Amino acid sequence: MEKILLLKYGELVLKGLNRKFFNNKLLSRVKQQLKKLTDAEGGSFELEYAQSTLCVRARDGADINAAAKLMKKVYGIVSVCTAYETEKDMDSILNIIKINARSLIGSAKSFKCEARRSDKKFPLTSPEICTLAGGAVLEVFPELTVDVRNPDSTVFIEVRDKSAFIHSGGEKGAGGMPNGTNGKALLLLSGGIDSPVAGHLVAKRGVSLDCVYFESPPYTSDLAFDKVKQLAEKLSLYCGSIRLFSVPVTEIQEKIFSDCHPEMTTILLRRFMMRLAERVAERCGAAALVTGESLGQVASQTMPSLVVTDSVAGIPVFRPCIGLDKEEIVTIARQIDTFETSSLPYEDCCTVFTPRHPNIRPTIEQALREEAKLDVDALIENALSQTKSVFIN
Ligand code: ATP
Ligand code: MG
Repeated sequence: MEKILLLKYGELVLKGLNRKFFNNKLLSRVKQQLKKLTDAEGGSFELEYAQSTLCVRARDGADINAAAKLMKKVYGIVSVCTAYETEKDMDSILNIIKINARSLIGSAKSFKCEARRSDKKFPLTSPEICTLAGGAVLEVFPELTVDVRNPDSTVFIEVRDKSAFIHSGGEKGAGGMPNGTNGKALLLLSGGIDSPVAGHLVAKRGVSLDCVYFESPPYTSDLAFDKVKQLAEKLSLYCGSIRLFSVPVTEIQEKIFSDCHPEMTTILLRRFMMRLAERVAERCGAAALVTGESLGQVASQTMPSLVVTDSVAGIPVFRPCIGLDKEEIVTIARQIDTFETSSLPYEDCCTVFTPRHPNIRPTIEQALREEAKLDVDALIENALSQTKSVFIN
C-alpha cells in the first residue's frame, strides 16, 4: 500500500491555448519545492499528470506528509489530497479501507462513501462500490451510522485508468496562478502585518516578487532587518525566490525632520519611498509596486494622503489590502504564517520620526512646497548608492 498526493489544478484548466505554458510553470514550481525536500531529507518523488490531476508518489522513503505541506503553498493548486493507492480490484480496495479505517474516518460518528469510476470497464458500478466500501467501514466500526445527506466524514473511492485511490477528501490549496506567469512586481516590505499579506495577494496571481525595505540605521536595529528577512523567507515559500533590497533613509528622515513642517513628515517620507521604490523596480525589472495600505487605517492612508503619495509614482501601485479591515488582513497573515513574525516588536523606520499630529488632509501643493526646502534628487541618489541586497530562495 502506497500513499500518494493528488494535486488538483484550478483556473489553469480554462487556459485554452496557453494551458501548456501555465502547466509547465506549475510543474517546475512543484519540482523545485520537492527537490528542496529530497535534498534535505533524502528519497525521491515521481510525478505523473493524468486526468487533470498531478499525482506525486514518494520513493525511497521520501516524506509524503512533508510534501503535502509544501504543496499547499504552491499557487495554481486548489486542492491537495493524500490518498492510498491500490490495484484496481475490489478486494484490494476493501482491504485498504479496513486497514486504514481510523485515519479515513477520524473521530466522525457518521459517514458516507462516494465512488467515481473513470474506468467504465471496472466490473462494479459506483453505487455497488459504495455499498461494499460502506460495509467494510462498518465491519471495523460497527457503531458508526451511515448518513448520505450530512455525514461527519466521507470516504472517496476513485477508480482511475491505472489504479484506485482511497481518501477522505482534499485540503484547500493556495489557489491562484503559477509563479512567474504574470510578470514581476516590487513589494514595499515593512516589518508590519499588512505588507506581507499584500505581497501574497499579488503573488498569488502569478506575479514574481522582489522586495524593498527602507531602514533607518542607527535608529532601527539589525533585528528589524532580520525580521523583514524572515518575512521575505516566509513569502518565498509561496512565491519563489526573492531579491530583498534594503535602502537606508536615515538622511532623508533627518532632513525632513529638521527642515519641513512637522505635520507633513510622514507624507513626505512616503513620497520618498515611492520614488526610491520606483528606481529599485527599474533596477530589478519590476513593472509595478505593491504596498500594504488599507484605506483610512492610519493618517498616511486617508484618501487625500494616498493621492499625494501616488502622485510621485511613475508606475502602477497595487494596494490589494485597500478594502480589507485589519481583522481580514490578520486572518490572511495567519494563513500564510507571517502574523507571528510581523508581531515581533522591532520598529521599522516609520515609527522613529512619527509626528504627534500628522496632517490627514495633505495636498500635492503643500507637499511640493515642503520638498522645495530639500534637495530631493541628491537625497534620492545618495540613498540609492547605499542600497544593498540579499537573495532569498
Ligand atoms: P505594514 O503593516 O505593512 O507595515 P502599516 O499599517 O504599518 O503597514 P504604513 O506604515 O503606513 O502602514 O505603511 C504603509 C505601507 O508602506 C506598508 O504596507 C508598506 O508597503 C510600505 N512601507 C512602510 N514602511 C516601510 C518600510 N520601512 N520599508 C518598506 N516599505 C514600507
Ligand atoms: Mg508599518
